[in-house]
Amino acid sequence: MQRPYNFSAGPAAMPEAVLQQAAAEMLDWHGSGMSVMEMSHRGKEFMSICEAAEADLRELLAVPANFRILFMQGGGLAENAIVPLNLSRGGVVDFVVTGSWSQKSAKEARKYATANVLASNEADGHTSLPAPAGWQISADAQYVHICSNETIHGVEFHELPDLKTLGCDAPLVIDFSSHVASRTVDWSRVGLAFGGAQKNLGPAGLTLVVVREDLLGHALSICPSAFDYKTVADNASMYNTPPTYSIYMAGLTFQWLKRQSEGALRGVPAMEQRNIAKADLLYGFIDRSQLYVNKVATNCRSRMNVPFFLRDESRNDAFLAGAKAAGLLQLKGHKSVGGMRASLYNAMPLAGVQALVAYMREFEQTQA
Ligand SMILES: *Cc1c(COP(=O)(O)O)cnc(C)c1O
Repeated sequence: MQRPYNFSAGPAAMPEAVLQQAAAEMLDWHGSGMSVMEMSHRGKEFMSICEAAEADLRELLAVPANFRILFMQGGGLAENAIVPLNLSRGGVVDFVVTGSWSQKSAKEARKYATANVLASNEADGHTSLPAPAGWQISADAQYVHICSNETIHGVEFHELPDLKTLGCDAPLVIDFSSHVASRTVDWSRVGLAFGGAQKNLGPAGLTLVVVREDLLGHALSICPSAFDYKTVADNASMYNTPPTYSIYMAGLTFQWLKRQSEGALRGVPAMEQRNIAKADLLYGFIDRSQLYVNKVATNCRSRMNVPFFLRDESRNDAFLAGAKAAGLLQLKGHKSVGGMRASLYNAMPLAGVQALVAYMREFEQTQA
């Protein structure tokens, strides 16, 4: 039986093969007689699950050897505090505001550091990207923070800024919660990347941090021990009990990602090619239609989160009800933006986007 296509922004759809494998292993993981949920995090069974997940992720994202991978908790929002607690040294930190998430990050950092907004797209309703060439980075900035994919406004950096060419030696911090593993990452431009798992990696509860080694060990004295990156790194993400089941599910997703291919491409580059095709199909249809509109500048439209509006908003409820009946779930836009939003994470196949476009076309025709 075909499950409905789920366009949720997060927690989001997972690959069906991963859900099936988890179901099959639920009562007895690999002959251990235990569910993964019932295992000691320090036992050899779970240690092997966790080590494999980390190694697979390092391979998938091509994380260089001088970066540490940390499995934490608290989500992207907790990282908004944990990053300044670890990296700000109580000084100046710079933010580029491109939507709700980077705005929240700047606000939270103000509790621990002097947070400066160096560029913002607020004037155009978060529909563009301020060009890095115009950024005036603070001379004493401890880091520069961007949200590399704004989940709510649908604005994505298709190229990470190269701070060195802007005369800045400070590390770049990226919140890549909603596009991690959807595309390759240029680690030479990044000091730290963080993201909640529940968009593109697995269930809620797991937070991924990838941090350059030289940035460890500078936490403020008020930083909770469980949130001090050095403590977490020194204890291989086992300083306290990690979110074991979420790590297991993310690990199954990493194995699934490694099996994916498009022509000669494997893993994340294969997903990136698929994600480009999915996004092109949906944006292309929206741009040619009379009823639907996406307001984001074409150079920074998100491949993962596509907010769109019906030109006649009185039809919104009918659109959503018809979509649900057609097996297309969770298309309602975020309440702060309105309209619709289709999230096209890795687990969404091209066939799901084709079904969405077919429904949107039919809805437009029958309403004409
Ligand atoms: C979802 C999301 C967050 C918040 O994650 P939580 O797990 O709810 O704390 C932060 N940043 C971005 C870009 C997100 O998409």
